[in-house]
Amino acid sequence: MNETELKKIEQYLASLPEKERENKIQEIIISQCPFCAIAHKRIEANIIYEDDKFMAVLDINPASKGHVIIFPKAHVPFMFNLDDKDVGTMFVLANKLSQLVFEEVEAEGTNIFVANGEVAGQKVGHFVLHVIPRFKDDGLKFEWSPVRVDDSEMKGLCDKLRQKSSSIDLNFCVSDVPSQQKVVSEEEPNEEETSEEVYTEEERI
Ligand SMILES: [Zn+2]
Repeated sequence: MNETELKKIEQYLASLPEKERENKIQEIIISQCPFCAIAHKRIEANIIYEDDKFMAVLDINPASKGHVIIFPKAHVPFMFNLDDKDVGTMFVLANKLSQLVFEEVEAEGTNIFVANGEVAGQKVGHFVLHVIPRFKDDGLKFEWSPVRVDDSEMKGLCDKLRQKSSSIDLNFCVSDVPSQQKVVSEEEPNEEETSEEVYTEEERI
């Protein structure tokens, strides 16, 4: 679709009454997105699980036998567009389905995989969580050659991230919100805590 065509569609949509416009936009999204089309039953799929918000199907182009994809029925581009509770639900689903698939295809391992963004390998702009059964010598590669990051840069990055992580709010969880462990570096031991409660940075790596 070129820019002129896009402009024409935008003008057409702008000319519609609000409700009609919303329906039309929804139609366009469904026609452009395979996962929306599956969610709206416009495209057939091997559906394993479905509720009001989520769906799990066998991937049509599987990385291995039993490759399952889990996605929200609403068109959500990236994982960070989901609310926390939905992220939690999707990972619980992935964990449960991973166990089922693991047994059913007699896998020897699983990868639970997210590609957030095109550069990370996301092929369609609709967030998907992959559950990929693994088998010995299956030829799949999830390996990388480590890059060298200067020790002081690593420490600086860790300090900044640790500071910012204090804003993470897990209160959406119904119960048993874990209290954040205080990280104590080796240079500044905290006498008051027992050795079992203290994680040094070395131990956390
Ligand atoms: Zn979609």
